[in-house]
Amino acid sequence: MDSGVRETHFENGLKILTRELHNAPVATFWVWYRVGSRNEALGITGAAHWVEHMMFKGTARLGKGDVFKLVTRNGGSNNAFTWLDFTAYYETLPSDRLDIAIQIEADRMVNARFDPDEVASERTVIISEREGHENDPGFWLAEEVQATAFKVHPYHHETIGWKVDLQRMTRDDLYNFYIKYYVPNNATVVAVGDFESDQLLEKLNATFGKIPRGADIPALTIEEPEQAGERRVTVRRPGAAPYFVTAYKTPRASEPDFYPVMMLAGVLGGGSGLAMGRTSPGRSSRLYRALVEKALTADIGCYYRPMLDPYLFQVSATARPGVALEKIERAILDELEIISNQPITDQEFEKVLKQTRAQYVYAEDGVGNHGYRLGMLDVVASWRMYETFLENLENVTKDDVQRVAKKYLAETNRTIGWFIPTSSGTTNSGTTNSGTTNGGTTNGSGHPTASNGKGATAHKSRKKKTVGAKAARSKR
Ligand SMILES: [Zn+2]
Repeated sequence: MDSGVRETHFENGLKILTRELHNAPVATFWVWYRVGSRNEALGITGAAHWVEHMMFKGTARLGKGDVFKLVTRNGGSNNAFTWLDFTAYYETLPSDRLDIAIQIEADRMVNARFDPDEVASERTVIISEREGHENDPGFWLAEEVQATAFKVHPYHHETIGWKVDLQRMTRDDLYNFYIKYYVPNNATVVAVGDFESDQLLEKLNATFGKIPRGADIPALTIEEPEQAGERRVTVRRPGAAPYFVTAYKTPRASEPDFYPVMMLAGVLGGGSGLAMGRTSPGRSSRLYRALVEKALTADIGCYYRPMLDPYLFQVSATARPGVALEKIERAILDELEIISNQPITDQEFEKVLKQTRAQYVYAEDGVGNHGYRLGMLDVVASWRMYETFLENLENVTKDDVQRVAKKYLAETNRTIGWFIPTSSGTTNSGTTNSGTTNGGTTNGSGHPTASNGKGATAHKSRKKKTVGAKAARSKR
């Protein structure tokens, strides 16, 4: 499919993707920075997310909080979020107001102030944001599973960062991070909607085009050593119910096996289409039938998403009262063994493809979703995936799926996590924040956002709630 996307490069290294869509007088404007918690060293974990907060705290031109006021006053919505692989900022506005987005983003790419008092008050905000996540057993377990699965690669830590780092990081740590990574040569601008590309590019050239190129950023080439056996981790904390996760190292988005693994996730948990957020678990999916329908678990999730580096394929579930985690673990692992060893039916395979196609097309609604997918794919692999995703998925065979199931869902490649409540806390059980997830989607419109645990989680600033399409939901 030809998506009509135009790719432009400025001399300062900025990449621009524009796609005209004239069916409604709106436009969405995104800046994607190729920096996320993956780029943080120990000692400054959580820096990317904290910098995201600071980008709303004022520049020489705009005061603290002005970005939200300005966009809202002009009938738009905006937000930002940080994830392992990237940090993204966006505004969706009536198309005749798109200049506002350009001004905001060009300004804060270079002029964010990082006022020491603001850094200090944001420390409290961010620590309480983390404490909010900590009320979710899914968050605790996801964090521990990640840290157990990755010993060397910085996917080891969650986007929110370790609390000890949040307590000690300095204003200069944050500012240096900003100076290093928030540069035109480390960013992709994505604009989708009702505008003329030539005109828009002229405006971008007059604003972003004037920002000096930053120092070159060496590619991060850390590779996680191969895992040699099952790893296990247990978390004992207050919580409402026991919670289970099993996670397997799986390929990055740019590897050919990405597509068969997506189909594998679809058969097990229901097809999804790279929307912002995730679909509710497919009720006809294997895991749903084997766990939720049999009253072993209250929910079930199967997560796999496009990532820059090899990450995790995860299955997670909240236990029903009185059901032992051993039993849940056995039932989930049985399903994973079955798919590795017994043929998938044509009918089942077709159904997943159909669901995925529907999800993908559904997400064509609204300029915001286009901006999200184009930018996200560009950061983790290539925006061309936006055009080839469905075709590549349709080329996957049932044998491919079985092959990747055998290869990746191996005992030696997994990390299992148990959350065992020590008392019934006040927390919800795993399905928290309205969530969305990175891989699939809840209501079709969210963004990756604050983690609600189940697995990885893109994280988004909480105070700002709206999203182009609808209310923000959160990711997995
Ligand atoms: Zn935040």
